[in-house]
Amino acid sequence: MSNVDEPQKCDVVVVGAGAAGLAAAIAAAEQTKTTGTFRIVLLDGAKTIGAKILVSGGGRCNITHEVVTPTDFFGNRHIIKNVLAAFTVEDAIKWFASLGVELKREETGKLFPVTDKARTVLTALVKRCHELGVAICPDHRVTGIECSSVSGSEFVLHHTHGIMHARKVILATGGRSLPKSGSDGFGYELARRLGHQVSATVPALVPLVLDDAMFHKTLSGLSHEVELITMVKGRKVDSRTGSLLWTHFGISGPVVMDASRFWCLAQKEGEPVALYGNFLPGQTQEQVRQWFMEQIRDNPRRSLVKTLAHRLPQRFAEAVIHHAGCEAHTTIAQLPRKDRDCLLETVVRFQLPIVQDRGWNYAEVTAGGVPLEEINFRTMESKFVPSLYLVGEILDCDGRIGGFNFQWAWATGFLAGKAATSS
Ligand SMILES: Cc1cc2nc3c(=O)[nH]c(=O)nc-3n(C[C@H](O)[C@H](O)[C@H](O)COP(=O)(O)OP(=O)(O)OC[C@H]3O[C@@H](n4cnc5c(N)ncnc54)[C@H](O)[C@@H]3O)c2cc1C
Repeated sequence: MSNVDEPQKCDVVVVGAGAAGLAAAIAAAEQTKTTGTFRIVLLDGAKTIGAKILVSGGGRCNITHEVVTPTDFFGNRHIIKNVLAAFTVEDAIKWFASLGVELKREETGKLFPVTDKARTVLTALVKRCHELGVAICPDHRVTGIECSSVSGSEFVLHHTHGIMHARKVILATGGRSLPKSGSDGFGYELARRLGHQVSATVPALVPLVLDDAMFHKTLSGLSHEVELITMVKGRKVDSRTGSLLWTHFGISGPVVMDASRFWCLAQKEGEPVALYGNFLPGQTQEQVRQWFMEQIRDNPRRSLVKTLAHRLPQRFAEAVIHHAGCEAHTTIAQLPRKDRDCLLETVVRFQLPIVQDRGWNYAEVTAGGVPLEEINFRTMESKFVPSLYLVGEILDCDGRIGGFNFQWAWATGFLAGKAATSS
């Protein structure tokens, strides 16, 4: 990454050159390119920028989703709706096309670069910054931001190589997920010192670790459909169906990642939380019992495992039968009623013994952050500090898996970049 001559005075400093910061810098520079005199600088603490973009989507970067709605996010949905409306999926597709990145849609609705390479996305963003004269300064960690006048018209930024003055600051420091990428949560401290609140932050889109005594290790690599229900203080707070992946440490896969934020938040609040799996999604215990009774009537000599394997992966069927204290090869007609009820309850209401989440190194995003109510959603400007803008993951908004978090980063970055250069 070339290190352009670093001006000590500039018009806009973007702190953080991740997805949101790059989008903000480009939007700002696009708007001012005819004036030629506007100086926009990106400061990033990481030695090489874009680590998170490169690892995203399994190295393919799931840029956005074909349909993005506020219900794909958690946070103040009224504000989220307004932000999403100002920079839509169509805008994102056009914007990437203008950067030379064509997108393709996968069956799930996720949009990826046609090259299937996240590097294409990062290269295009950085190239456009260079074309527009945006100075990218890696290895420039911001350690403090002072607002030198009450009107907020001049900021002094302290970074690892000195001091920089700016008329506008866009804070795009991300959250706490994947701290080795440079997003270690210090941005929250910067926001706090400037007068913002930061709501409790927990890992989201994170795999969950199960009690070692569970059977997950024997199923490692197996994935299948499950309905996951999260109960907090005895109340259902979330229910979703999707693919669960058994791993050597516990559970992962899209449905687990999406549900994890509820478990992590409750855990942080010290509230009793339980996660239940229904391995026959949408089926009640009574419906499953009726099906099982039909099986007894039609195939009384069939074994338990063979019967369950009609509707569940065989390896999982064996594990769950054993877990319920039954014998896989018992013929179904011989299964005592008590054992049958216990087994069927285990299949439709399996309490997953979670001991912890897998932590920030494995979390894709952060739930919590600077409350959306503290920013002007039309411009992303702080309501407390004029000329300060907050974008991306630092804000209290997290999306489900599928390209939604990047859409949030592009949208908020775009809005702030435009607003910061329009006055
Ligand atoms: C493994 C993984 C895979 C993912 N895959 C996808 C996906 O396919 N699709 C999707 O939509 N989302 C995905 N995400 C989520 C997505 O990457 C984030 O939501 C998005 O990158 C957030 O963008 P951001 O710019 O707000 O923050 P970040 O990308 O975290 O960027 C913040 C930047 O700020 C810098 N910084 C932090 N503090 C300072 C400081 N004090 N001074 C200077 N610089 C600082 C950091 O070095 C970093 O470069 C994935 C995340 C992970 C971890």
